[in-house]
Amino acid sequence: MPEKKVRVRFAPSPTGGLHLGGVRTVLYNYLFARNMGGDFVLRIEDTDQNRFVEGAEQYILDCLRWCGLEPDESPVSGGPFGPYRQSERKSMYRPYAEQLVSQGQAYYAFDTPEELEAMRTRFKSDQNPSPQYDAKARSRMRNSLTLSDTETRALLSQGTPHVIRIKMPEQETVRFTDMVRGEVSFDTGTVDDKVLLKGDGMPTYHLAVVVDDYLMKITHAFRGEEWLPSAPVHVLLWKYLGWENDMPQWAHLPLILKPDGHGKLSKRDGDRLGFPVFAMNWTDPRTGEQTEGFRERGFLPQAFINMLALLGWNDGSGQEIFTIEELVSRFSMERVHKGGARFDFEKAKWFNHEWIKKLHAEELLPYVRKAFADKGIPATDAGLMRIIPMVKDRCTLLGDFTEQAGFFFIAPAGYDLAAVQPKWSEGKKSFFEEWVTALAGLEPWEAPVLETSFKEAAERAGIKTGELLLPLRIMLVGGKFGPPVFEIAAIIGREETIHRIRKALQAF
Ligand code: GLU
Repeated sequence: MPEKKVRVRFAPSPTGGLHLGGVRTVLYNYLFARNMGGDFVLRIEDTDQNRFVEGAEQYILDCLRWCGLEPDESPVSGGPFGPYRQSERKSMYRPYAEQLVSQGQAYYAFDTPEELEAMRTRFKSDQNPSPQYDAKARSRMRNSLTLSDTETRALLSQGTPHVIRIKMPEQETVRFTDMVRGEVSFDTGTVDDKVLLKGDGMPTYHLAVVVDDYLMKITHAFRGEEWLPSAPVHVLLWKYLGWENDMPQWAHLPLILKPDGHGKLSKRDGDRLGFPVFAMNWTDPRTGEQTEGFRERGFLPQAFINMLALLGWNDGSGQEIFTIEELVSRFSMERVHKGGARFDFEKAKWFNHEWIKKLHAEELLPYVRKAFADKGIPATDAGLMRIIPMVKDRCTLLGDFTEQAGFFFIAPAGYDLAAVQPKWSEGKKSFFEEWVTALAGLEPWEAPVLETSFKEAAERAGIKTGELLLPLRIMLVGGKFGPPVFEIAAIIGREETIHRIRKALQAF
């Protein structure tokens, strides 16, 4: 048999912002697909109307674009297996659920919410605090297993609200080989009779994920570890529907853990510890609540992706900085770790700093331009191109560019007076008054020329150059930072330099 073309999918439910773990799932799918020359599909799993959140799908698309992880097939770009939104595939699922009923592996259940509640109360005990609709309960409920065929048919023909549930076998062991965890097995007795088709005719996630992975010819399904408990239901559905040989290879990816290693990293941890957990800013349309993203915190997508790739995978070489092309060529599921990966925000920032150092000015330009625009600092592209190489090694987050280099474009609003005043003197003041006058005729306006003129003037005044450099810096920049001061003067220009020195002299 010819090898099947690799096809993977990212199948998010549009319920809110995309968490780090979600993006890492996308990334591993993408890297695997590209590495294997396969297809990467985006499928929107929106069958749960109660959890649907306006704008969440667009947010997911925007995130993938920002990360540079664009799918080959999606609700927007289409593809040969569409539609790619489960709500638009609604009519496809019922026949499969009916097939399972006719095979005796699923059944109609007519229980009302009150009857379900009564069941839970009846079976509740210390040993069983949250009773499930399982083999024990099903025999006492109103379903096609306890009702006669005639009764069932009558209820169906009257349009009685009902769901279709899988009939979980009582004592079977379901096994499969997970690409990350190896052999896994489940005792079916611990899993309840999950609803497959809901009262509104929509499939649940469990039915839809299996039907769609089959119809879309998915060969490998990677998802977060939190889906592992659902895997036995899915494996049984593949088997019952007669598709066992086409079942994708599963990989359940380990969790991303809190910085202290205790438990899954949550949005709340980010709020508590002051770092983003989402890829991009997300505003919940229902509550208006805003959650910060890595993008808005000032991360480069290259750094974000690089950091995520290494949260749970490495190539064994010790290399930490990878381009996406390198990740694609080195990635393999065998090297994905079994254990959870601890998130470390300082390390995330380290990746960003390395990437800012690594990128060329023209690659950084769009991001830096945006950072300046966000702060309302007018800066030309030509000006930015000149200053980016001078300050980029000092920037960890993209917002640092405006702090490190904003003074190139706007005069300082205030001065670090504490750094100047204690050693300020009349002598220094007259030195600057004289030098600023000389600047008017200085030619050419270049850093080395400025420096020589400054040193000569200092010598004439009998003051050490070292004692004058800091005040000059504070005049031009406002504080004790920035690139070499004569280069700053050369860039901001003659008029601006003279203006800033004169203005500062009044404040010192
Ligand atoms: N819709 C599921 C989610 O929201 C997808 C799980 C899977 O990939 O099977 O994560």
